[in-house]
Amino acid sequence: MNTSWHKAHVLPKGASLEARIAWHREHQKRCGCRPVPPKLLDQMRREPAIDEYLARVSPTTHALLQELRKKIHALLPEVEECIAYRIPAFRYEGRVIAGFSATSTGCSYYPFSGTTLKTVARDIEGYSQTKSALHFDEPLPTALVRNLLDARISEGMRRTPEEDRMSKWSTKSATPRTRRRPSTPPATGPRGARQRTG
Ligand SMILES: [Zn+2]
Repeated sequence: MNTSWHKAHVLPKGASLEARIAWHREHQKRCGCRPVPPKLLDQMRREPAIDEYLARVSPTTHALLQELRKKIHALLPEVEECIAYRIPAFRYEGRVIAGFSATSTGCSYYPFSGTTLKTVARDIEGYSQTKSALHFDEPLPTALVRNLLDARISEGMRRTPEEDRMSKWSTKSATPRTRRRPSTPPATGPRGARQRTG
């Protein structure tokens, strides 16, 4: 225990959330004699800039993105929010593995990788997309979000098949195909056509 640090940094009773978060961040670096309380840890994983971002978009888009945000947290409780390339994003084990943005026509999901969408090509056949972005204007199904995260995480980890079998992700049965969206026109992006082969 870093006694001198504690003496110099006493957290006052009734301190604000911001003050408590700041104290615990510093404490984990300087001392770490006790863990961050779980509730506070949950707050620390949230990025206020994402709330600010969501406050500026239309109510429909706000609801869609907020729902996606919740799904990502539910699927991957260890994930931390951040801003990457100026958009709301999610960091897992040090790597940015997902992000989203509001677009002029709806929303986009970014796996922050050029290969993830190819990996899940079957799941996203009905969606408008580019190599790096999946467009959507209704909630992304949980099974699809899970497959997107799973595919992205697997890329970076380079697991052996044995490790893969032991992964908590591969033990869950993934929905093989997501519901088609007949109202959606075929991929309209300049690179969309390439994504349709799979
Ligand atoms: Zn301490």
